[in-house]
This record gives sequence, C-alpha cells and structure tokens, in this order.
Amino acid sequence: MIPAQPAAEKPLPLSQATPQWKREQAEAVTSPAELLRLVGLDQHPRWKEQAERAQPPFSLKVPRSYIHRMQFGCADDPLLLQALPQAVEHAEVAGFSADPVGDLNAQKTTGLLHKYHGRVLLVATGACAIHCRYCFRREYPYEQASATQSQWQESLDYIAADSSIHEVILSGGDPLTLSDKRLHKLIDRIETISHVQRLRIHSRLPIVLPSRVTETLCQRLAQSRLRCIMVVHANHAQELDHTTAKALQDLRRAGVDCLNQAVLLAGINDSVEALAQLSERLFEQGALPYYLHSLDRVHGAAHFEVDEARAKHLVAQLRERLSGYLVPTLVREIEGESSKTPL
Ligand code: SF4
Repeated sequence: MIPAQPAAEKPLPLSQATPQWKREQAEAVTSPAELLRLVGLDQHPRWKEQAERAQPPFSLKVPRSYIHRMQFGCADDPLLLQALPQAVEHAEVAGFSADPVGDLNAQKTTGLLHKYHGRVLLVATGACAIHCRYCFRREYPYEQASATQSQWQESLDYIAADSSIHEVILSGGDPLTLSDKRLHKLIDRIETISHVQRLRIHSRLPIVLPSRVTETLCQRLAQSRLRCIMVVHANHAQELDHTTAKALQDLRRAGVDCLNQAVLLAGINDSVEALAQLSERLFEQGALPYYLHSLDRVHGAAHFEVDEARAKHLVAQLRERLSGYLVPTLVREIEGESSKTPL
C-alpha cells in the first residue's frame, strides 16, 4: 500500500516559505465523512454508511482543489468515484492480486524496475497527492521497494553500467511529491550518465494538484540536457480546468512533451462520449492522449473493470469519431512481456 507518510519524505512544518503546492498537499482531505460533506452527500443513502465502513489500509486522500472540480450533490460524480473508498473494495475476487503486473519480479535494485529494453523505471517515492481507488500499486510495499535518497546510488550505478538504457522513468507513488531539492538532486545525478538521453516523469500532480507545476520546476526541466517528457494521468474531461491548462502550458513552454495515460474505468469513463471529451480537452490543453490502460487486476478494484470486448468496441467507436492522433492506444500490461500489449 501507499503509506500515509513515507519515511522518505516526511512533511516539513509549514512556514511562510512553504510553497503553495506543499500547503495544499498538507491540507488534503483524508476523511470520507469530510469529503462527502464537502460535496453535499453526507446524508446520501448510497454513501453514508458505506464510506464509513471502507477505510484503511488504503486510506482516502484527495486535494481540496480536486474536490472543487466535483459536482456538488452528484452521487455518481466521476471524480468522486475515483477517490471515495467503497465497501465493495473488500470483496475477494478471483484473478485479482496484490501485484498484478509483476513489479516486484522486475526489481533490479531497491526501487529500480527494468522490464523493457532501453528504459528503466525508478520508484522514487511511495507518496501521492491523491489515492486513486483503482491504483495498481495500492498494495505495493513501498517501505521496502521504493528508493530513498540514500538508495539512489545503487540504482544510478545500475543505469550507468548498462549503456542500452537511454531513458529513465521517474514513477512512484508520484515523483512530483518529492521536494524540489530532492527532485533536482536526482535529475542532476541522472544527467551525469552520458548514455541516458530522455527523462520521463509519470505524474498525476499536474492534474490533481496543478500548483505543483511551479516556475522552479519548469526552469529546472528547461535547463536539463535530457529530453523531458511528462506523462500525466487524467481519466475524465471534468478533471481538466483552467488550472490544469496553465500547468500543461507552462510545461510545454519549458520544452516538455506532455502525454496522457488514462485507465478505462467502469462508471467513470466507459462511454465513447466520455473518452472523446477527454481526448479533445487534453489536446486543447496541450497533452496528447497516449495510453488507455485496461484495468490492472489489483485487489479491491474489480468493480472498475470493463471487459476486453467492450473496451475494444469503445476504442473502435472513438476511432470513427476522432482524428487518429486523439485516439489513445488501448493496452494491457502483462507480466513478462517485452512491452505493453496493444489490445
Ligand atoms: S497517483 Fe498514480 S500511483 Fe498514486 S494512487 Fe493514483 S494511480 Fe496510484
């Protein structure tokens, strides 16, 4: 699971100098009752008792600026459903497991996964700004399997020793929850490895906490000798407002290529209308739709699954409706395969 406060990044006491995004992170809502009150659903028969029963180990966490994008009084709001724990998560469903994509088997050093040719993924932290209920790493043992700052050297040595590695992916958790100081230090060290050409950052923060895209961050990425790619994660057009538009524009001005990966989620975006709106708004805001992931079959997420035949049909309909560059590739991650598998 994602620990509430991973040892690697303990919160600093807030002061005048604390950046806005850190303040917002510290003020995130962690109680289902408070979330339901804020969206006017605290007396709603569907949620009231259920959300009280569905609590840890994978707790609720959602930034207030994201809650502001939820529709007040709407029990089926697509943003609410991504964040609110439900009792159904506790159901045992055959085929759903703690590590559905075999991350632990691909670990080469603490926090470094090497699955595919030419690139490696560094689990730089276990912390996230939001806890997405369908997360494939919701039971990931971050305490043992994410690289703390003191363990980065082992991973960097691994990368330096393999000249076929041209791209480093920073993931987590969410790598943009690292402080600027830690993040910049990590980028500095990756830049010293001459055969690495690209830095890819997988982050949901430009969507759920857009204030994280600061001038300092953009300047650091603009100055990098590496080609920088930001793969953000939005699942529904309603997540994209003027704040996300600014974050994506700032990244693009800094020379960062912006792509989006979404997860196909029952009840949230499993209609051609929702997927088309997502693609169009992403493009308007400066990110290309990249992947549409079929749900990774992690414990607690079975109620989000869309069956494969229906997923393929939805994407075929999307292709009829949109220009090709707006149609994400539908993929599934299968343990042991040499890349994501297109469906
Ligand atoms: S932000 Fe990403 S890693 Fe964090 S809970 Fe959501 S899907 Fe999982």
